[in-house]
Amino acid sequence: MSKTTASPPHIALLPSAGMGHLTPFLRLASMLSSRSCTVTLITASPSVSAAESSHVSFFLSQHPLVKHIEFQVIPSKPSSNPTTDDPFFLQFEATNRSVHLLYPSLASASPPLSAIFSDFAVASSFAPVAADLGIPNYIISTTSCKFFCLMAYLPVLLSDPSSFSSGLSEVKIPGITPFPLPSIPPPFKNPSHLLTSLIATDAQALSKAKGILMNTFDDFEPETLGPIKSGRVFDYLPPILPIGPLETYEPKKEQDQSYLPWLDSQPAESVVYVSFGSRTALSSAQIRELSKGLERSGYRFLWVLKTSKVDKDDKEELKDPLEESFLDRTKNKGRVVKGWVSQQDILEHPAIGGFLSHCGWNSVIEAARKGVPMLAWPQHMDQSVNAEVVEKAGLGIWERKWGWGLEGLVSGEEIGKKIVELMEDEKLRGLARKVGENAGKATGIGGKSEKVLTEVLEYLEQKN
Ligand code: UDP
Ligand code: UDP
Repeated sequence: MSKTTASPPHIALLPSAGMGHLTPFLRLASMLSSRSCTVTLITASPSVSAAESSHVSFFLSQHPLVKHIEFQVIPSKPSSNPTTDDPFFLQFEATNRSVHLLYPSLASASPPLSAIFSDFAVASSFAPVAADLGIPNYIISTTSCKFFCLMAYLPVLLSDPSSFSSGLSEVKIPGITPFPLPSIPPPFKNPSHLLTSLIATDAQALSKAKGILMNTFDDFEPETLGPIKSGRVFDYLPPILPIGPLETYEPKKEQDQSYLPWLDSQPAESVVYVSFGSRTALSSAQIRELSKGLERSGYRFLWVLKTSKVDKDDKEELKDPLEESFLDRTKNKGRVVKGWVSQQDILEHPAIGGFLSHCGWNSVIEAARKGVPMLAWPQHMDQSVNAEVVEKAGLGIWERKWGWGLEGLVSGEEIGKKIVELMEDEKLRGLARKVGENAGKATGIGGKSEKVLTEVLEYLEQKN
């Protein structure tokens, strides 16, 4: 078919559980829609968190042309996964067992589908569905390229019982820089852990995909993207396609959230923003130490406090985990908020001078996009590997000895010192600003990430 008669592609997007997965899919859906694609968003029901269902509803209300397919997940039996009770991991597994149900609605989509963009976390179960449909399937990786490599190589590592042995200082993947042993997620050391077995199974399906889209950009992870794109690391993988940082679609919030007017009245780059993402709650003891650290640092702060993994369970009052007088003493210095904040608006705000973060990949890439310096405090999973990416890119600092979230207690004194270092390091501020400029170049007209996405869409358009 000639180019002139080609019509914009119809793309279905299939995210997996959790805001860390849904957010990049919604952003990409919005980008595709604004490039005239027909877009179908597929979501699993019921969702684990309230944030997921409210964001899907809001997204659909803002994008009336986007089609929506909702499918019921077949629930897990409570006793079937003794290695974890994490509701997001259980939902990954349940989603994998349910995606075949999508076949009839995808087969009858109108106009017919040109491609499906599906989450890494459903790669193995969705591959046969895509094959039966005869539609190209692109995998979306929602983590760093570096952590993607670890997941892709996991089947090889698991086949050798000594891969993660405590006598080793690092884990090697030929062609890229090694992974220090402490940055390997603890569940990976247990092959029967639900998450480990899911990821290893997904990794084996990667070669069936048409391409692997990543929310990262060349200048941010050159050390890994260079070798992996050239095919030297995994010669069986389809093209690696960095298209980040994905653009945000969320409109700027009205000043109805109390922290925004407060931020407006703070001096430029004077406030440290503290958040551990959508699904990480610190222990009560660690929350108290963090409050001491913030106070000791002397810096202004905006702290998003979470006390439960799933937002629906979060019933505690704000003052419950904090020392009684803390809120009183710091009322002129900071704000502690509970519930969902607009992180995008916060990171864009001129008053923000630093970001104490767990290094969930979306948070990292959002900070990179705005050039906000980070203090990395990884809590679990991909976050230590992401923290290393942050450090190497010049976007932030990382205190390795703090370890994983639940490993031990980090004192208020140490936290306070590190916050001062974050806020006073002018060299870091300059480097972080440069990261932000490079992010802008990558997604601007003719930028590397923008070109990659354009080429994928042109390819799909020509096939139509
Ligand atoms: N987020 C937000 N407001 C909140 C909590 C989280 O906007 O109150 C967003 C954040 O900007 C990011 C996503 O939710 O886009 C969380 O993903 P990330 O990968 O950073 O961490 P996870 O929540 O998966 O651990
Ligand atoms: N992951 C995956 N397949 C799975 C489960 C997880 O690829 O079956 C990946 C997921 O895409 C993410 C990483 O493992 O990049 C960490 O998962 P999780 O969603 O728990 O991240 P967190 O919310 O802890 O940031």
